[in-house]
Amino acid sequence: MESLPTVLLKPGEADRVLAGHPWIYEGAVMRLTKPPADGDVVQVKDHRQRFLGTGFFNSKSKIRVRVISGERQSIDASFFRQRIEAAMAVRRRHMPEATSYRVVNSESDHLSGLIVDKYEDVLVLQTSSLGMDRRKGQIVDTLKHLFHPRAILERNDMGSRKFEGMEECGGTLFGEELETVEVRLNGLRFTLNLKSGHKTGLYLDQQANYQAVARFAKGGRVLDCFSFLGGFGIHAARAGATQALGVDQSEDATAAARSNAKANGLGDRCVFEAANVFDWFKVRAAQRGDAAAKPEWDLIVLDPPSFTRNRASVGDALRGYKEIHLRALKMLKPGGVLATFCCSHHVNAELFMDVILAAAYDARKQLRRVAVYTQSPDHPVLPAIAETEYLKGFAFELV
Ligand code: SAH
Repeated sequence: MESLPTVLLKPGEADRVLAGHPWIYEGAVMRLTKPPADGDVVQVKDHRQRFLGTGFFNSKSKIRVRVISGERQSIDASFFRQRIEAAMAVRRRHMPEATSYRVVNSESDHLSGLIVDKYEDVLVLQTSSLGMDRRKGQIVDTLKHLFHPRAILERNDMGSRKFEGMEECGGTLFGEELETVEVRLNGLRFTLNLKSGHKTGLYLDQQANYQAVARFAKGGRVLDCFSFLGGFGIHAARAGATQALGVDQSEDATAAARSNAKANGLGDRCVFEAANVFDWFKVRAAQRGDAAAKPEWDLIVLDPPSFTRNRASVGDALRGYKEIHLRALKMLKPGGVLATFCCSHHVNAELFMDVILAAAYDARKQLRRVAVYTQSPDHPVLPAIAETEYLKGFAFELV
């Protein structure tokens, strides 16, 4: 182990690592004892040569080292096995009923650069760091051993791979060639496309929230904006909504949502429309004319994509968030519930709340907050690593 290349940090840079943050930026590095190859394991020490941890090195990435362990650890099959088993224990404890969930969530599970999603007996992985990517073979062997899956696929089609000097790629790493898979979320069936579905197929991070939001649906009319495969609408229909209307701009997504509703015997109460939500709100208000003064929905869900990928466009994103909240609040019945989510890293909970309040002010509506949401427990939040927290949501009742 002593023969590993050593990355020495500048004075003052060790605290973050000791606090558990795995990213060491290029600017934090004082010097290297010998040049490591990209993707190799290095040891990290502070400027006084005190050992801090072991990690993956990549000279092409701004994140020079991703710390993988606070110990002198060989990164081998038994390491991956231990880490994945530890991650599984968290899922078993907090989502004992789930059969489809995120097995490994990168930094949240001390495996920076690795995501593994379990869709029943199919596993999908993403390796977003070079160190992890190089060890795909070991990871696949470990997953085979632990899960005995029907197939393991990679969805490495993320643009972010270029930041690590890697090409985009995808395909089957083990087992059957599959296009789609049917999963159970809270006992409901959803079919997802393994080649083209968002993220690695669908939004596992909302699994707990589908149930939580559905509590407000009984006996009411539900509008599910940005519905994708119909997660919120279909859960609402099962919970007793008289009607659930999902709106999403993707024809493929709305067609898939329709067939998911049917597969659950809820096709008669769920309708999915392909439209841009911003336009849909405008057209709906115009169509209803004078009737627009009489709000029509008991529960509205807003779960848009992240409107911003960087800090520079936060202003535009906030205008977008404000507009949909304003329009939704105007269409909500008194006593009705607005469940709203924000998955943008650059818009924190406070800023999100400010936008909602600004929309409520313009609509002259008063809100009572009745629930606070976060990502499902298979996307653990480690407060020492701020980046692990990204999904925030609230439910408000119209006072
Ligand atoms: N609520 C969904 C996830 C939504 S992801 C779930 O739980 O699975 C965001 C969705 O918004 C995507 O399906 C995308 O097609 C859709 N979308 C993005 N911009 C849109 C717009 N302006 N109008 C309508 N849909 C949009």
